[in-house]
Amino acid sequence: IHLQHSVKSKPQKQVCKTVLKHFDAQYSEELGEQWRGARDVLLNPLSWQYGVLLNRFSDLTNLKQCLTELGYTNLLPQKHPESQSQDAHIPLQCFIHQDPVRIPTQSHHPGWLKQYYLLNAASLLPVLCLNVKEGENVLDLCAAPGGKSLAILQTATPGLLHCNEVDQHRHDWLLKTLESYVPPTLRDLLCVTHMDGRSIGTMRPGAYDKVLVDAPCSNDRSWLYTPDTHQGEMWLKERTQLPLLQKELLCSALAAVRPGGVVVYSTCTMSQAENQSVVEAVLASYQGVELLELEQHLIDSLSEQFCFAHFHSSVGWSLPLSGSLAQEMNYYLSEGEE
Ligand code: SAM
Repeated sequence: IHLQHSVKSKPQKQVCKTVLKHFDAQYSEELGEQWRGARDVLLNPLSWQYGVLLNRFSDLTNLKQCLTELGYTNLLPQKHPESQSQDAHIPLQCFIHQDPVRIPTQSHHPGWLKQYYLLNAASLLPVLCLNVKEGENVLDLCAAPGGKSLAILQTATPGLLHCNEVDQHRHDWLLKTLESYVPPTLRDLLCVTHMDGRSIGTMRPGAYDKVLVDAPCSNDRSWLYTPDTHQGEMWLKERTQLPLLQKELLCSALAAVRPGGVVVYSTCTMSQAENQSVVEAVLASYQGVELLELEQHLIDSLSEQFCFAHFHSSVGWSLPLSGSLAQEMNYYLSEGEE
């Protein structure tokens, strides 16, 4: 494979002024001083942390060397194979670059596995928090297009990975992603469904060790760069509907996880209504759920690439906010005692 070092600048994205005005008002109030830094990042797409997630199931011959020659480095420290115990997770191999360098996406060829998946490196944080172990049963409640499902498979081989997506078109996209990256020998451990995630908790109570709720949200970045002011205003209205759906999805996830299991809730908006308030409301209504702190070693190993902000809410938790793009919000909840 030939990777092209394409520093060619893409056409400049236009910021939607209506949305920026809305963000300025909302986030300066909600984030205080931290909004200034987050705003700078949002307004500078060149500072977003593009990542190249390697596919451990594909032939990676020459690829790592190519990336290194282009100046890419590994996001996470890599362990020596001898130091890995049986149940230790496999380190994710995601390459990042300090300069705005992009490499081409690979196209789908039946029978051939793609070597890498391009994503925003911050979107790996929820997967790292989930910390899936070999053989665990995992539910990815809102899975399309499948970036996080793939990332999960890069960290461990679960006993079952149930990927769900409600939208028909996005469900088809999810299937295609999995087909392009996962070898046929592993497809038996995948279950892909097309359901409303809100019903899975009642259908499969306590069935999973880990559940990821990568919730539908008012994605700040897409919203800020919408080319159409009218669309921007429509989103503003739709945004108010999201917290109810998010709470219902999170409740469904908590019902689906076994006692002692872990649920990670993540969004790509900084809106309090879609983050703190959702988690707070669910915690208040759901018995036996405990909020977990992010493990310090995870924060330490990523602190060069991301800055973690801490927010203290009325229930007193600290919230990690991934930094270089200041967007991904993660909550980490555990369902009762084992
Ligand atoms: N996890 C995905 C990834 O990493 O590629 C991104 C997920 S995206 C943030 C949220 C997804 O939730 C969208 O694909 C949306 O169609 C889906 N969704 C919305 N409502 C849902 C519901 N009630 N049940 C399941 N999925 C839903």
